[in-house]
Amino acid sequence: MEEVVAAARQTDWSRLAERALCDACLGRLFGKLGHGHTNEARGRAIRAAVEVRDGPCWLCRGLTSEYDGLAAIVARKLEPWEYDTFLVGSKIDAEISAREESLWSELGVAHPEPMKAELNREVGKRVCDLVKREPNFENPDIVAIVDPAFDHVDLQVNSLFLQGRYRKLVRGIPQTRWPCRRCQGKGCDRCHGTGKMYETSVEEVIAAEVMRESEGTGHALHGMGREDVDARMLGRGRPFVLEIREPRKRHVDLAGIVERINRSGRVEVDRLEPSTRRDVVDLKEDRAAKTYRIVVRFSPPVDEAKVKKELALLVAQPIAQRTPSRVLHRRADTTRHRRLQDASVLRVDGALAEIHVTADAGTYVKELVHGDQGRTAPSLAERLGVGCEVLELDVLEIHDGA
Ligand SMILES: [Zn+2]
Ligand SMILES: [Zn+2]
Repeated sequence: MEEVVAAARQTDWSRLAERALCDACLGRLFGKLGHGHTNEARGRAIRAAVEVRDGPCWLCRGLTSEYDGLAAIVARKLEPWEYDTFLVGSKIDAEISAREESLWSELGVAHPEPMKAELNREVGKRVCDLVKREPNFENPDIVAIVDPAFDHVDLQVNSLFLQGRYRKLVRGIPQTRWPCRRCQGKGCDRCHGTGKMYETSVEEVIAAEVMRESEGTGHALHGMGREDVDARMLGRGRPFVLEIREPRKRHVDLAGIVERINRSGRVEVDRLEPSTRRDVVDLKEDRAAKTYRIVVRFSPPVDEAKVKKELALLVAQPIAQRTPSRVLHRRADTTRHRRLQDASVLRVDGALAEIHVTADAGTYVKELVHGDQGRTAPSLAERLGVGCEVLELDVLEIHDGA
């Protein structure tokens, strides 16, 4: 505290003239000096050493005496929500900030603390005592924004994130909810009023069970890449993070939810465990190779030895893929270069063959087989010199290192 008092003694207080300051506002002028004291305590020590007018505070107009009341409003507002950590933020009246900054320059103080920082901390401490939960500055469950001018508190309830790996056991459902192309989700004849292209999705099967327990207002599924609607996702499954927006409850019965999802017969998850927004970013930087099972029909039929030979020749070759014609309506026409890392022919039966391939992340596998009218080159169809139709496609493994 000597540091604070010494700095106060060097200040020319005559510049304050008739203006009075409360203890907190006085102490806050030196708020970044000395640790372990409230600004109010700093102010009392300063007032004992120098002459500063006491009285209705010119700077805060009484705001520093309202922290208890504001904290009570925050605590009440938080009551219906389940959370472990919180943070208090605030909107400070522009006039208070203006008076504060002009005072700093008039007095030439070097280490002041802004009103906003004091209010956030002081109200935060009081809320902590009232609700018996910890503040968290990095990643709070709920942020309470205090507007002292109107004794109003707004809550930002941060999303709940859960991660796991999913398996899609059936064809014909997309990874995420797909709004109807004609009505954009409003509901029309084409979608029978559902607003969706497909009756359900991996996202909806998983989220429905979590939503029921967490009582969130919305959800999103972030996957490490995605499979086509008509492809199954097998093997160990695909890593995902489920985001539940504005959950009322965060402590949900994860094992029970997993069990119910797995009873759907369409989607299975290996587990659900707590995750963060940062994990979503990591997922999106997907560089994992994938192994696929493909059933292909040749026309005309090709003998097995030739399929094996030509498929083997494709491995490790640079393959140029222009954006597939099937996705051109939503993606720019560019060319990407990928490689087949491994390929094997399991069986050839007349015109049908089952093959397994492992390809770089981001390879268009169907196009690698049928060639997309030369937009992918080389392709299996081009090598064999026959038409190749992909009848079935499944993802067997995602080599993400986990
Ligand atoms: Zn004040
Ligand atoms: Zn529609």
